[in-house]
Amino acid sequence: MTVTTRPGWSTLPALMYHSVSAVGGPMSDLAVPPALLREQLHALTAAGYRLTGLTEALDRLAAGSTERLLAVTFDDGYRDFLTEGVPILKEAGAGATLYASVGHLGGTASWMGRWASAFGPMLTWDELAEVAAAGVEIGNHSLIHHPLDVLPAAQLRDELTRSHDELEQRLQLTVRSFAYPHGYNSRRVRDLVADTGHENATEVGRRLHTPSEKRFAVPRLQPTPAHSGADLVELVRTGETGLVPRVKQLAQPGWRAVRRVARAFGRNLT
Ligand SMILES: [Zn+2]
Repeated sequence: MTVTTRPGWSTLPALMYHSVSAVGGPMSDLAVPPALLREQLHALTAAGYRLTGLTEALDRLAAGSTERLLAVTFDDGYRDFLTEGVPILKEAGAGATLYASVGHLGGTASWMGRWASAFGPMLTWDELAEVAAAGVEIGNHSLIHHPLDVLPAAQLRDELTRSHDELEQRLQLTVRSFAYPHGYNSRRVRDLVADTGHENATEVGRRLHTPSEKRFAVPRLQPTPAHSGADLVELVRTGETGLVPRVKQLAQPGWRAVRRVARAFGRNLT
C-alpha cells in the first residue's frame, strides 16, 4: 500500500498506545496484543512512514524534514512495554516515546480501580532505565495520573515539577516531553507544563497534528485491538474524521466544570 505525500507534508500523525497485551472488558482498547502491534508497525513502515518518538519527530520537522514521519507513543509504563513492546519496536526499526506515570512505577495502575490488575505490574525504576537504554525516549506522565485541569494551582505545580525532576535525576537524562493524564489540559496546565522544563506535550485529540500548531497539545490517534495493519495505515492517512472528535473538543470546558464540582464532592470523573 502506498501513501500519497501531500505537498509540504503538512501533518504529523502520532499514535497513542498503552499496554502491549490483551485485556477484556471495558478497557480493552487500552491494550494491543504483541502480534497485532507487530503487524501494525510493519504495515506503517511498509507504507513508507518513519516511526520515531514524539520529540524526535518534532525536532526533525523543525529542522525541515520532508520525510513521512509518524510519532509512536506508549502511555503509563506497563512492564509489558519492556518485555513485549521494546523487542517489537527494535524489529520494526521504530523509535518511540514512553510516558511514565512516575508515582505508580513499581506498583500498579491503581487509578483504574477494579480494572488495574488486568494490566499487570508497572515498570520498576530499574526496568524504566532498561527502556531508556534501549533507545526509547522517556516522557513524563505526572505523578498521580489524575486529570490536571481540575487540580489547585499549588498541587499542579508540585505534580509537574516533582515528576519531571525525579525522572531526570533517577535516570540521568533530559525529559523533554509530557503526556496529559486522561488527555485533559487547559491553557493554565499547558503554560505550567512549559514552565516546568518540558518542551512539548501531547493529549488524546483523535486527529492529525499540524506542525504549525502549538507543541503543547499534540493530538494523537488511538490504535485499538480492532485495527488491522491496513486499518491503521488508513487511520493515519485520514485521521479520525467525522463529527465525534470535534464535538468532544467543544465539550471539554463544560465537562471540566462538571468534573471540578464532582472532585469537590470527593468523586473523580474522567
Ligand atoms: Zn495514562
